[in-house]
Amino acid sequence: MERPSALDGHTRLPAAVLWDMDGTLVDSEKLWDIALHDLAAHLGGTLSSAARKAMIGANMSATLVLLFADLGLPAEPDALARAGDWLRQRTAELFRGQLPWRPGAERALRAVRAAGLPTALVTSTERALTEIALDRIGREFFDVTVCGDEVDGRNKPHPEPYLRAARLLGVRPDDCVAVEDSPTGTQAAVAAGATVLVVPCEVDVPPGERRVIRESLVGLDVAELGRLLTAEAA
Ligand SMILES: [Mg+2]
Repeated sequence: MERPSALDGHTRLPAAVLWDMDGTLVDSEKLWDIALHDLAAHLGGTLSSAARKAMIGANMSATLVLLFADLGLPAEPDALARAGDWLRQRTAELFRGQLPWRPGAERALRAVRAAGLPTALVTSTERALTEIALDRIGREFFDVTVCGDEVDGRNKPHPEPYLRAARLLGVRPDDCVAVEDSPTGTQAAVAAGATVLVVPCEVDVPPGERRVIRESLVGLDVAELGRLLTAEAA
């Protein structure tokens, strides 16, 4: 299919839509809550809400370092690796059991697909767990997927995950709209040059450059995504 570039002669369409996963498309942060509190208990402690909030949007290794610091445990490589294996197993169990959509997310994905726009999934979650989530979400919605263990450690808030997605799609990042729920993810997408549609889930995202905050994905259509870029260029 030929790529559409404009809707009505003046509303530019995004070159691609780059979707975050956890908290944006699926309500998996609630499942991470359970797994992280279970891991803290397994390690003999209790996870504080401040540390839990700091983990939202973070990749596995950053999450484990935060958890160990919060519990006052020494961040020794062997202990971190064992905790990581435990957390992977627990989250996989939970993801297989239930993975609810965020409001409006499935329809928004379908609308972007129906419009023929290139799309990427850009997640801090590792490939193995992402594949479990994709069994539920549907692989057909994405041309490419970039996972947290595929960016040489340069995870969000580093721009690399978004830059990599744009490279794989062959588009300029500043022609793209990213959809994010977290401060960490928003920072990554803005640093990559994208315009961000922010749909906060667990924590608020501060106002700032190149972002529009929306309450949810309910009713989102392609024209609105295009207007984000058009407003940015104006
Ligand atoms: Mg997220």
